[in-house]
Amino acid sequence: MFAVDGTEAEFLPYVTPGPLWSKRCYIRLKMTSENTPTAPVSLPKYLREGLPKQDVSTLEDAQAYIEELIEFQQRPVDPDDLPDGAEPVEDEDSDGKGTVVKEKVTCGDDSCHCSKNGEKHGPYKYRYYRDESGTLTSEYLGKA
Ligand SMILES: [Zn+2]
Repeated sequence: MFAVDGTEAEFLPYVTPGPLWSKRCYIRLKMTSENTPTAPVSLPKYLREGLPKQDVSTLEDAQAYIEELIEFQQRPVDPDDLPDGAEPVEDEDSDGKGTVVKEKVTCGDDSCHCSKNGEKHGPYKYRYYRDESGTLTSEYLGKA
């Protein structure tokens, strides 16, 4: 005997369909007709497997916590922690993470005029933000 989804049913043979049969059949149909949400593949395995096991109240707690974490990770960098000469600018084309600055920089080449009190390069746009461990990190965004 086979259920609607093609898997072998668990009922004993020769049992006349009755109330019990109907109930089990209903449960199987219900389980297979609902589409369980699929976790994004970017989620680590422990979250993919752990989150679906939580009840609504725990999921709502997790949701609030996740929003707090996102806001924390996107927080602006304290102006005192930015390099000298880095000037915060309006951040028009971004997700709002960290602080976007306009900055003139040295290129690291000892023979370049920028290393000898000459004109520095730029200005360029950088995004400064704190990574997951709190380390100040910068990301090049292009010419300012
Ligand atoms: Zn240079």
